[in-house]
Amino acid sequence: MPQVSCSFCGRRKNEVMLLLSGIDAHICNYCIEQGHQVVLEETRPKRSNPEDQPKFNLIKPMEMKRYLDQYVIGQDEAKKVMTVAVYNHYKRLMQPPTHDDVQIEKSNIIMVGDTGTGKTYLARTIAKILQVPFCIADATVITEAGYVGEDVETILTRLLQSADYNVEAAERGIVYIDEIDKIARKSDNPSITRDVSGEGVQQAMLKLLEGSVVNVPPQGGRKHPDQRMIALNTENILFICGGAFDGIDRHIAKRVNARPIGFSGDRRLNDTVDRAHLMRHVSAQDLKSFGLIPELIGRLPVLTYLEPLSPEALRRILTEPKNAITKQYAKLFAMENIQLHWDQSALDYVVDQAIVYNLGARGLRSICESIITDAMYELPSSQDVTELTITVDYAREKFGKSSMHVLRSAA
Ligand code: ADP
Repeated sequence: MPQVSCSFCGRRKNEVMLLLSGIDAHICNYCIEQGHQVVLEETRPKRSNPEDQPKFNLIKPMEMKRYLDQYVIGQDEAKKVMTVAVYNHYKRLMQPPTHDDVQIEKSNIIMVGDTGTGKTYLARTIAKILQVPFCIADATVITEAGYVGEDVETILTRLLQSADYNVEAAERGIVYIDEIDKIARKSDNPSITRDVSGEGVQQAMLKLLEGSVVNVPPQGGRKHPDQRMIALNTENILFICGGAFDGIDRHIAKRVNARPIGFSGDRRLNDTVDRAHLMRHVSAQDLKSFGLIPELIGRLPVLTYLEPLSPEALRRILTEPKNAITKQYAKLFAMENIQLHWDQSALDYVVDQAIVYNLGARGLRSICESIITDAMYELPSSQDVTELTITVDYAREKFGKSSMHVLRSAA
């Protein structure tokens, strides 16, 4: 009897690893793989096809805000400003090329707000809603070309990586640049000498923000003559910058004090207006006084602020968001068949400590972690525990022993 062979390539059974049989034909593993490649090639959207619109999940600003509300507590003003800017940005991308004179410009965003108020979290959640590649870059590690540090292009390396090196996808992604305030120039006067950490870096960032074709080193690091570069067009990449801008309240105060506010021309904001209140009035002019160069500010036309988180907001962050910390712990314990409860007073204690340590919402996790680590260590090995309630006494005892607390007490 003749040996069976692949009906496509003719290889015999003993020459292949696998031979599948159909009704009256056979196919070997090599032909299956080759066929798979052909299917992938044929079904991949063609780049050159003008009919192909970029794919992302664009929803309207109000719906986007409702979605954000499930994750990010408070910050209503920032959410509103950002959802509108993001919506317009992506609407612009969906427009087929037009020949009229109205060009919708892109609306990069700059956010001012204390650390741990949710700047990064907002940007990340928006990227998640839209299902576009997202990356975080730190402005402080960037230096001007020729100095020690990272070239500005490496910001885009991370975006490419998060898009799995799909250039088209990366070209409509979102980049969050953190600590933009740290590259402010140190005085309000344009510098005569070169300022490695400040103005030069701002200059270097301009070409990214405005939309140009940038050569990106695929593996990051310094540009190297031998390295193969990937050309990325930044025209449709949305840049969101964030910073705490410590001390900007002084600039705002100076400006708003000097000018009448509202309808009653003689009323002025007095010195007692607190920082939180002042931040609402932040304007491009204050960013300039703080040390951002006008060209950079011009390329970040949407400005918004994030409020410092109140104790109530911190309390809500612990329990309300879809992936709230307490829900995450409950899930981890449920996997061990243990029901986890937090007493209200224990949660209040966590919030109090976050305020004492001035860590914003970022502190909540580390505080909870130091309270609950012992239980997470011990309980999986115990057979009989089915319930754990974190009382305020338990929280105080565990947190009191934590390195976070001990370090502070020693300071
Ligand atoms: P920032 O970028 O402003 O310094 P992050 O966005 O990194 O702060 O916030 C740190 C963490 O705190 C986030 O990952 C998130 O879990 C939590 N967080 C901060 N602000 C909020 C908020 N408004 N609502 C819900 N969680 C928040």
